[in-house]
Amino acid sequence: MLGVGYNSTYRWQQRLQPRHRSDTIRCFRCDDIPPPDVEAYVYLLGQYLGDGHIRRNGRSHSLGICCCTDYVGVMAEVEWSLRATLGASVCYRSRADAACVTVESTSRHWLCLFPQHGPGMKHTRKIELAEWQRDLVATDPRPLIRGLIHSDGCRITNWTERRVGGTVKRYTYPRYFFSNVSDDIRGIFTDALDLLGIAWKQNRWNSISVARRDSVAALDDFVGPKY
Ligand SMILES: [Zn+2]
Repeated sequence: MLGVGYNSTYRWQQRLQPRHRSDTIRCFRCDDIPPPDVEAYVYLLGQYLGDGHIRRNGRSHSLGICCCTDYVGVMAEVEWSLRATLGASVCYRSRADAACVTVESTSRHWLCLFPQHGPGMKHTRKIELAEWQRDLVATDPRPLIRGLIHSDGCRITNWTERRVGGTVKRYTYPRYFFSNVSDDIRGIFTDALDLLGIAWKQNRWNSISVARRDSVAALDDFVGPKY
């Protein structure tokens, strides 16, 4: 509202809540321990597959999730999931147009946690979940679906008019869409829906829709509109 940049507010926050020290970082793959917060990791996996990227940052790597600034709630969830997964500090990088902000965290261990990292765009290479990732998703696919819809999906309300007994009535019906140009990532999304028995259709070559009333209600229980 005041036009203050993310980097300024980030620095102010860091004075009140100092940066995590590196000894708080624990990588559950290197340490061979269960993830400290499975829900946070699986949500972050959905966000990474949708709008995330890993880049080299000096001798380390940064995992960034590109977030639309319209959805501050989603941005807060991304920040929470980054912190809860690895314990590294999180910063915000805004682009000149400021319609998007990258929520980013730096640690060499992001490569351990996201083996899908590779050169080029995600849709130009094979994207497959590792066996240990599939096991985590199978225990509860809901955070993955939430992360994918929060990044590359949406919940919209369609409407239609029908004549009932001489009067025209307007009906509204919510729907979910998930759009991604990678066949593999759409497959990961629909596999997760199948695990929960949620009906879906491919409505365009790059888009999946969930429109059946009971399936929309099932998604409303744990996704809902972006906020
Ligand atoms: Zn590691």
